[in-house]
Amino acid sequence: MNIKLEQQMIKLPLVHPFETSFGIQKDKYAVIIKLTDDEGNVGWGETIADEYPGYSYETKETVWLIQRDFLIPQFLTKFDHDFPEIADVYSAFQHVRGHNFAKTGLEAAYWSLRADRERKSLGQYYGSTKNEIPTGVSIGIQESIKELISRIEFFVDQGYKRIKMKIKPGWDITVVKEVRDVYPDIPIMVDANSAYSLKDKDKTIMRSLDRFDLMMIEQPLAFDDMLDHKLLQSEIETPICLDESIHSVNHAIQAINYDCARIINIKPARVGGYSKAIEIAENLGSGKVWLGGMLETGIGRMHNLFVQARDEYSIPGDTSGSNRYFERDIINPQVTVNKNGTISLPKGKNLGVEVDEEFIKQKQTRYAEYRR
Ligand SMILES: [Mg+2]
Repeated sequence: MNIKLEQQMIKLPLVHPFETSFGIQKDKYAVIIKLTDDEGNVGWGETIADEYPGYSYETKETVWLIQRDFLIPQFLTKFDHDFPEIADVYSAFQHVRGHNFAKTGLEAAYWSLRADRERKSLGQYYGSTKNEIPTGVSIGIQESIKELISRIEFFVDQGYKRIKMKIKPGWDITVVKEVRDVYPDIPIMVDANSAYSLKDKDKTIMRSLDRFDLMMIEQPLAFDDMLDHKLLQSEIETPICLDESIHSVNHAIQAINYDCARIINIKPARVGGYSKAIEIAENLGSGKVWLGGMLETGIGRMHNLFVQARDEYSIPGDTSGSNRYFERDIINPQVTVNKNGTISLPKGKNLGVEVDEEFIKQKQTRYAEYRR
């Protein structure tokens, strides 16, 4: 079968700059993968493409190059005959270590093509069992606590069921306390993006957070650490959730088995793709996993939603409405949050939404085409 693969980099402005302990992000880049087969069936995948090697070593430049020079040639050579099961796509990438973001964009496009070809919802491939999923919102570091509380109010009014706040030294205990005073009952979690250490001063901060009844503290220590997290977990009650440290199914299982963490934030792109995100959930079960966001555009957002409709993803994830990040998303209709804080999943085939190709073209900064 002939296949056309289009690799398109797009740049969308964010409605609000997003600040974490890495810095401030003003635009969202993504490498969109479109597959078209002989019969006109189409598959869409999104590659996370950060501007800076902050969250991950991968950037918009590395994902483009690794896909172009190594992954796409292998993927097209092995296409279809070698992928009886969708999870087998990963075998085409086995000679490339790391670069999980780059791999995931291609794998996602393949899942979507299969759904299009077989006229089924992507949810059927991802094992979705729910029609709507509860969702939370992730709020970056703000100029002031007052500003933060007004941002939280804005999202709570829209129905979001869980608030995740970014913290860093100097923006932690007092901030969490003030938010807790205003919102005594709302589920809150904090994400430190590795801004702390095992020094006494930091451990005291982590211990002090125990009294705010947080759902979890995400990635307080080094981005590549497991064992120090185990030490910290033994000294605090709040469950530790690992994000940056987990790059494979094995990492996730080991982290839980050795009590380095009690919860895993699964970002499919970080763990090597959607089949890996499913495998981790199957291994760990309900209540131990949730799905984090990487400010995805509509295509990645839809893929993420269908995975979160699996039973194991019982903790609300980070997937918010399109308008949380973009004035206009690249899909129609855009993702919206219901008044009760859930997102409803579309029932149509494939992604269940239209991809706005006109808009993608307008926002395109680079384009390449490959054929087999
Ligand atoms: Mg995180």
